[in-house]
Amino acid sequence: MASPPPAWNRSPDPFAELISAEAIAARVAELGAQITTDYRPLIAENDVVVIGVLKGSVIFLADLVRHVALPVVIDFIGISSYGDATVSSGVVQITQDLSRPIEGKHIIVVEDIVDTGHTVHYLLENLATRRPASIRLASLLHKPERQEREVKIDYLGFTIPNKFVVGYGLDVSQRYRNLPYIGFVTNA
Ligand code: 5GP
Repeated sequence: MASPPPAWNRSPDPFAELISAEAIAARVAELGAQITTDYRPLIAENDVVVIGVLKGSVIFLADLVRHVALPVVIDFIGISSYGDATVSSGVVQITQDLSRPIEGKHIIVVEDIVDTGHTVHYLLENLATRRPASIRLASLLHKPERQEREVKIDYLGFTIPNKFVVGYGLDVSQRYRNLPYIGFVTNA
């Protein structure tokens, strides 16, 4: 059943809440603590670079890194996948590259969602050619029903059903990224 749209919602489309802001905050704190434990031994020798995939990962990354009690480096990479449509084209392109080389560094790629897996598969292959010391993937969401490419998610927030979701970084036509919870579009 659809919950009422938030007061600032300019669209008539109602979003039903799938994951509350409180549940997200609790899970993100757990993931940050796990990353802290896993990378504490590694950061003494090599930089740990947290790479946010623009734009959907920005809110997740901002919350996640504040639960990582290590001096990580943050960088961003821009990837185009869907354009403004809600169906995967399978066509992936780097629209904005990293600001620095990652050779010899420990990389944590932060994604909003693994859907078909095409975007992250392409991205991980591309980053691997730059000879980092290691690469792991953190994704807030995973839609296993839609997966077409095998992708290992090392740090996963939530597994979700096959619905088009919005909020906490995820958009509909570039809007609603600032919704504090994850909702789904009931008429899509
Ligand atoms: P994939 O290549 O795995 O199919 O798609 C990954 C990208 O598609 C995500 O980073 C995200 O930008 C977009 N995407 C996939 N599923 C959804 C969804 O349910 N909602 C929104 N807003 N974007 C999605």
